[in-house]
Amino acid sequence: MQPIDQQRMASPIIISVQCFYCSKWFPESQLRTIGESVKMCEACQHKHMKNMLEFEPPPYCQSCLTTTQALAARGDDRLAVHYKDGIYQVLCMACDAVYVQQRKDLYARTEFGYKEAKL
Ligand SMILES: [Zn+2]
Ligand SMILES: [Zn+2]
Repeated sequence: MQPIDQQRMASPIIISVQCFYCSKWFPESQLRTIGESVKMCEACQHKHMKNMLEFEPPPYCQSCLTTTQALAARGDDRLAVHYKDGIYQVLCMACDAVYVQQRKDLYARTEFGYKEAKL
């Protein structure tokens, strides 16, 4: 009788790719490529379409809650849209910079991360 470890079959190697939106790993064939290099799984695609239709950006940053008026007074009232914690959120440029740095794992692989954020 052989020890159990030696009887185990080698598991097949699956090349998995990370979904840009839910950060789960999938076999490459199950993901769609959006734009240049963003990968999205099917579940997220459905959610994405639904959210896009329902999305109405609020007039303030959803991270620091600064209103666009206050941001305009500071000289930059642009808001960046992020898919964060399962929903779309708008972030002011300061929070956007912090968030992009936090999610280097995702953004560094995109054309945006490479060219604009210099990750
Ligand atoms: Zn996904
Ligand atoms: Zn903010």
